[in-house]
Amino acid sequence: MSLRRSSGDHWVMDRGDFGALRAARAQLVSYGVRLLDDGLAVGSAGNLSVRVGDIVAITPSGAGYRDMRPGDICLVTLAGTPAADDTGRLDDGGPSSETPMHLAVYAATGAAAVVHTHSPEVIALSASRPELPAIHYAITALGGPVRVAPYVRFGSAALAAAAAGALDGRTAVILRNHGALSYGRDLAEAYDRALLLEWLARTYRLALSYGEPATLSAAELAEVTAEMRRRRYGERRGGS
Ligand SMILES: [Zn+2]
Repeated sequence: MSLRRSSGDHWVMDRGDFGALRAARAQLVSYGVRLLDDGLAVGSAGNLSVRVGDIVAITPSGAGYRDMRPGDICLVTLAGTPAADDTGRLDDGGPSSETPMHLAVYAATGAAAVVHTHSPEVIALSASRPELPAIHYAITALGGPVRVAPYVRFGSAALAAAAAGALDGRTAVILRNHGALSYGRDLAEAYDRALLLEWLARTYRLALSYGEPATLSAAELAEVTAEMRRRRYGERRGGS
């Protein structure tokens, strides 16, 4: 996608990318409802985004998912500048307050979609543990044990930096006393990882009820990753 500067202070894009952005907006609306239905957020909490070239489509600030329409999804550049849609209209309401965090993840990783949840199991874990250990080998889909990033106020540049930093080598991060973030090669993958993270945190909590649980070593996780690669799992969408 290429951008050119309009007569105003925002960017507009070439026509060829409007179809992909329209699809991304519709997908974001349907996954927003899923966030509620799957118990990963309540009310207007959490936020989702999809990157299409140089543009990020992201859920708006403070809007209820069940009332959201594709036209409500905000468009911003990777630098955070508002972008016009194909009608030339700029969004009335602002993009998600966590837009800086989404943009920091796009800058630091190869993400094509980002999901931020306020899911209860990871929040409970975040209040008392420094990381989610490898209680199950499926955690390899997240890159290994998932770090808990230090607490910083929502919407801040410091939170964006903390989240992106704690993602190093991972596809998910837990935000202490706040929630979680995961990314993927598309929104479906990023969302599946959010669900997996919540399931792993719940499973860990159940395991703790029996005492201190055994966890998998780095060597055992590396063996799983190698076997997954050999079987070519996780390549269903043709990614790397
Ligand atoms: Zn949040």
